[in-house]
Amino acid sequence: MRGQSRILVNTPDIELWPAHLLRARNNHDARVLSRARTVLRRKRDGRFLAAVLPEGVMPLVYRLAHEPGFDAALDAVDARPAHRRAGLERVGELPLARLQERLHALGLDDRYAERTGLPLVAEPDWLAFAGFDRYRRPLWLHADAARAWMCMQAAALRDGIVLEAISGYRSHDYQLGIFERKRARGLAVDEILAVNAAPGYSEHHSGRALDIGTLDEPPAEESFERTPAFAWLRDNAQGFGFTMSYPRANPHGIVYEPWHWIWSR
Ligand SMILES: [Zn+2]
Repeated sequence: MRGQSRILVNTPDIELWPAHLLRARNNHDARVLSRARTVLRRKRDGRFLAAVLPEGVMPLVYRLAHEPGFDAALDAVDARPAHRRAGLERVGELPLARLQERLHALGLDDRYAERTGLPLVAEPDWLAFAGFDRYRRPLWLHADAARAWMCMQAAALRDGIVLEAISGYRSHDYQLGIFERKRARGLAVDEILAVNAAPGYSEHHSGRALDIGTLDEPPAEESFERTPAFAWLRDNAQGFGFTMSYPRANPHGIVYEPWHWIWSR
């Protein structure tokens, strides 16, 4: 195995994935992924846009040069110092300006922020691989949160408790995509907000939050609070820097989420 990258480089429209962590959807993908070091992936819908091969960039879509954000992504491919590849570089943040335009286009105005007291959350400019989630998908977190999560998961296991990650980092575009698809099906913004956090306001955008589950429990259900895993978290999570963001009767009016924890230190 060659020295494989374990970081996700983030740009406003496109993510740079280590090819070995992507799943091929067909034979053509598989051939490309086996030779690629990095794959450029569109954040909005997960589409593979281009593969970075030893001989250069191979387009995987037509009109790649016209793809929004392609130039910024190419710059990021070129600017990958070794300490970043090793996951040691300081984590920066991407700008929020473009998100605000798209929120207004969706009909989401500032009243949401006023009503909930939630701030807009910037995305980190790179994320660290933190193992696999319950669904065998790569789990991406802020580098510090990734280290803390893996330590906490191992400590729980030593106590006989299995903690599974359900979901970690999610991009603005991913959340906007959910809204756009539901709007297209005729749902009103308020109906969607009853189920999904407004794009830009989820702690998951920061890479510091994750949803935690355990064996034989459905994901993201209140019943999680009656599991030994939850009791373990309640007693130990703070020691690893994790706290529950939305306890009962939280000031944001967000439903009780015993599975949602955020790292901060
Ligand atoms: Zn969550």
